[in-house]
Amino acid sequence: MSGNESRLQAIYQITNREETATENPKKLSKIWASDVFNLAKMEEMLDKKAYKAMKKTMATGAALDPAVADTVAAAMKDWAISKGAKFFSHIFYPMTNATAEKHDGFIIANAEGNAITEFTGGLLIKGEPDGSSFPNGGIRVTNAARGHTAWDPTSPAYLMQTANGPTLMIPSVFMSWTGEALDKKIPLLRSNKAMNDAAQKVLSLMGEEEIATLNSSCGAEQEYFLVDENFANSRPDLLLAGRTLFGAPAAKGQEFDDHYFGAIPPRVQVFMQDFENTLYKLGIPAKTHHNEVAPGQFEIAPYFEAANVAADHQQLLMTVLKNTAKKHGFLCLLHEKPFAGINGSGKHVNWSVGNATQGNLLDPGSKPHEHLNFLLFCGAVIRGVHKYGPLLRAVIASAGNDHRLGANEAPPAILSVYLGDQLEKVFQDIQDGKLTGSEDGGIMDLGLDQIPTFAKDPGDRNRTSPFAFTGNRFEFRAVGSEQSVSGPLIAMNTMLADSLNWIADELEGALSNGSKEEAVIAVLQKLMAEHGQAVFGGDGYSSEWHKEAVEERGLKNIPTTADALPALNDDDIKELFESTGVLSNTELASRYEVYAEQYILSIEVEAKLVIDMAKTSIYPAATRYLADLASSVSVAKEAGVELSTATVEKVAELTSAMMASVDSLSDALAQEDFADTDAHMQHCAGTIRGLMDDVRASADALEREVADDMWPLPKYQEMLFIK
Ligand code: ADP
Ligand code: MG
Repeated sequence: MSGNESRLQAIYQITNREETATENPKKLSKIWASDVFNLAKMEEMLDKKAYKAMKKTMATGAALDPAVADTVAAAMKDWAISKGAKFFSHIFYPMTNATAEKHDGFIIANAEGNAITEFTGGLLIKGEPDGSSFPNGGIRVTNAARGHTAWDPTSPAYLMQTANGPTLMIPSVFMSWTGEALDKKIPLLRSNKAMNDAAQKVLSLMGEEEIATLNSSCGAEQEYFLVDENFANSRPDLLLAGRTLFGAPAAKGQEFDDHYFGAIPPRVQVFMQDFENTLYKLGIPAKTHHNEVAPGQFEIAPYFEAANVAADHQQLLMTVLKNTAKKHGFLCLLHEKPFAGINGSGKHVNWSVGNATQGNLLDPGSKPHEHLNFLLFCGAVIRGVHKYGPLLRAVIASAGNDHRLGANEAPPAILSVYLGDQLEKVFQDIQDGKLTGSEDGGIMDLGLDQIPTFAKDPGDRNRTSPFAFTGNRFEFRAVGSEQSVSGPLIAMNTMLADSLNWIADELEGALSNGSKEEAVIAVLQKLMAEHGQAVFGGDGYSSEWHKEAVEERGLKNIPTTADALPALNDDDIKELFESTGVLSNTELASRYEVYAEQYILSIEVEAKLVIDMAKTSIYPAATRYLADLASSVSVAKEAGVELSTATVEKVAELTSAMMASVDSLSDALAQEDFADTDAHMQHCAGTIRGLMDDVRASADALEREVADDMWPLPKYQEMLFIK
């Protein structure tokens, strides 16, 4: 075995590792939601009136009477304390993709010097973290006020366990004192309401009499990498940036397709079982797990849930994933592109909308009136993706995801909708006026009857589409693995609300001129004439599509975050969020500021690391090797043997080239005078990123030249293949 001392040490540690024993597997029924204060526990612990009120709030989002909050708080405290909790925390989701918490004790010392516990409805409802250092995009600077958290009763409280006992966690919103949303939960809840309001209008125009509150659903598939921490700890880039900034590809990558759905390595399986046991205790319905395409890459997908709960669970899942990986000696990488040359990680967000009376509105159903509702909702999505494509692109924009979108492994940076052959034909026929209903009974025979035979789970899934219909839901496939699902869900719910409002207006007019069927077809025909360009069933990776999309269909190809985020300042996007009540102009502007700042910071941190690692790790290794080589050449010469100097020259050349790029990068990083945030982002995307790549190109070429026992950084083949 070759490799330098610290790499050899790491390999030794890994190969001699003893499996950490995990607790004995328990039956699912024993552990399921055992750490969640869910409706079942409330039914046991609350009086009938309070239980009913909570049940209604959780189902419909209806406001909760403060007296009920007091009762719930008391029961929640008793439950948590009976499980050993001494602390509670409101947990919230700031505009960064992070999860935030501030812990408080239940304890109060009374006059007699005894410790008692206290937790009132007031404490449950409102928390006051000193959140002054959360990015707020200027909101609280202008209002000179702190933020506060407020309990979200529609997402259940739970216990977060550590080796020393549990803490009660209370899902919350986070707002400024002036009532502006500083988080991702408030706009998600508002977008759900906007969608419900608009959907109610459409459904009642369609003659539905009983219409329950509509909710959006989300099932997110999470991809991630595992690297043994013995390697990760020697890679400052993995520790600080979550991805490798250097590293020559291993001789073997993913070309044999031998990892995808392959047998899960036993050590990883042990980790997954431990991870999923924790998820089950937290009431997160983990459903599938498997190896992904790249070596060292895996996926977990829970069963879908109401969007608000699913979003909270997604954040919790990422936390538990990282913590459990650490317990098993792994660093879990959620970054979108941890390793160059092999696949990166995404998060497919499966999304649908429905209610208790009409069911899933994105399911074609089996009865004629269900077909009509389905076509309208599906049409609404098509319109949304077309009209607000740049918004969908903006909400998935991040420094990490820029490495995937547009590369031939992930959906392109052009937003289009894939419907599948059959449904695409139905919409095409509508657009072409073949389903006008004028010919005797033509509508039903020609088009809508096709839908019952529609394959629910089409085998020909189009994996190259960023936004695909998959039988009873849409799958937004371009979301990044590290991102919160809330941004995409907010955008999808809001664009749907806008489209359904438009449809309601159109439908009202059309219904006065003809039958329900004719009205639906007329509205959809108009919709398709304006927005049908977004429907695309071909190969999204092909260069022909890139050309056709932009030149013939007028769709936008938006390659980087720097190009994507400014869409948040566009008038039509401002209007969209304001008219639906999801985000005020101030709230939207603050989001642009925060996301832009996050992007700039990510790139600048990476650039600093590149400079640091090139100077302090790679340069010393390269020059040491160069000295060795040069002395070998001269020693040989003294002995009368002529050694080729080609390698000496090559190493010298690459080293100089690397240091020249480091200097250029340092200069670019020092630049400060930018006209505005857009210009600063463009500098990161256009200049800094390119210079980082230049440094890396020389360094990776050096990795292939320098003696293996002198190379300081764990190599791709070690990190990806040794477990
Ligand atoms: P695939 O990898 O084939 O896309 P998976 O089974 O890995 O499928 O993941 C599909 C995800 O979609 C799961 O989280 C699943 O619960 C979710 N899902 C299924 N039906 C719906 C629906 N109607 N609305 C939202 N999500 C759904
Ligand atoms: Mg999927």
